Amino acid sequence: MQLTKLIYQAGIIGCGGAGFPTHAKYNGTIETIIINGAECEPLLQTDRYLMRNKAGELIKAADMLLRETGAGGCVIALKASYTREIAALEEAIRSLGSDVRLHRLESFFPAGDEQTIVYEVTGKVVPPAGIPLNVGCVVNNVATLYGIYEAMEGRPFTQKYLTVTGEVKHPVIAKVPIGTPVGECLKLAGGPLLSDYVVVNGGPMMGKLMSKEEAESACVTKTMSGLIVLSTDSSIARRSEVTLKHMLNRAKSACIQCSFCSQLCPRALLGHPLEPHRIMRKLSSCRDLTEILDDRDVQNAALCCECGICEVYACPMGLQPRKVNSLLKGELARAGIRYQRTEGEWEPDPNRNMRKAPTARVASRAGVAAFEEIQIDELKEITPESSGTVRLALRQSIGAPSQPVIKDGERVEKGQLIAVCPEGSLGSALHASISGVAALEEQYLVIRP
Ligand code: SF4
Ligand code: SF4
Repeated sequence: MQLTKLIYQAGIIGCGGAGFPTHAKYNGTIETIIINGAECEPLLQTDRYLMRNKAGELIKAADMLLRETGAGGCVIALKASYTREIAALEEAIRSLGSDVRLHRLESFFPAGDEQTIVYEVTGKVVPPAGIPLNVGCVVNNVATLYGIYEAMEGRPFTQKYLTVTGEVKHPVIAKVPIGTPVGECLKLAGGPLLSDYVVVNGGPMMGKLMSKEEAESACVTKTMSGLIVLSTDSSIARRSEVTLKHMLNRAKSACIQCSFCSQLCPRALLGHPLEPHRIMRKLSSCRDLTEILDDRDVQNAALCCECGICEVYACPMGLQPRKVNSLLKGELARAGIRYQRTEGEWEPDPNRNMRKAPTARVASRAGVAAFEEIQIDELKEITPESSGTVRLALRQSIGAPSQPVIKDGERVEKGQLIAVCPEGSLGSALHASISGVAALEEQYLVIRP
């Protein structure tokens, strides 16, 4: 079967966070396939678990991608410190006679940022607001590659591996059907140690914070890579409590224009014209964000990947340039202002290597250093057969929500196609993660066993 069709029909989307439908990445001429095994967010260990325990499967899938795309090479990029994962992958490469190569990265954040990893592996800079394909690359993360292996074996994307850690009794890697309630995943880790807590969906730098109540009603999605339970008093929880008005007032009045945010910004270090300190300066002279949207420096906010280095790691005043950029991106989109790239070569900052943010220090600044040393080897599973009710969001990826192809009250079998991408749209297919009776809700498909 054609590669893009195989990937689409299995409902595979990027598992690294953004949720870009994977089949759409393979439309073009590819020189290098990069498998992102950096797992650069502190605390997350899902990809490392897969690289240790599913190395053969990953290499088989990477070999298939190489064959089907005719790409010049396939590189798994992971940190040099992941010695057990490197040993497992090297053994699989040897025993399968594979041409896949490993690229060792330093331990810095965000080594796994798509544009950063392309530069680290190939020495090429993706142009501002561009995509890796602009320089002949496709980047998939390790969990996505494992999904491709499952698709090769005829199994659609219905199960998710997650790191469950933080303030829980026994941090674990959880394997659960997509749509499993978050509370069930926390129980696999022995449950929260605190009565009041918040849960980060993803990593501590770029993850989305959920209150205890939100976590209780949330369900596992295809893009979820980890669940981190933290105290309501943690710095991540406290930062999220700052109101928009207060955040903007502080940004206007307390920025000392030290420019550390720009000096340490990973996109600026690649040579992209993003300078958050200039945006903060423009902010100080306006009453409303819409007044500064015509400014070229402000429009460069569109280049921000919202990694959080500027606010968690760089800013000595505790300001939130990332949040400002995020708000500006929303305003620019509402005003119909699209980023206009000027032609040119993009050269990384000559000081880039010195300015990389070491992962351990990032974890410390994010207030999660206490959990960074925990080594998670144990897998705990909820099987489709032992699962209770699952709730599958129709919008799992970037693009249009999937459209149900089953009727309310219909019995569905595990692996059955239950929703498809609307004709002509970017999106993904969705399959039943358990067998049971389906109910159609506004934005969800619920399956009761
Ligand atoms: S969040 Fe801050 S550091 Fe990260 S890309 Fe955006 S401006 Fe740069
Ligand atoms: S690091 Fe903070 S204080 Fe310094 S320029 Fe950036 S936002 Fe302003």
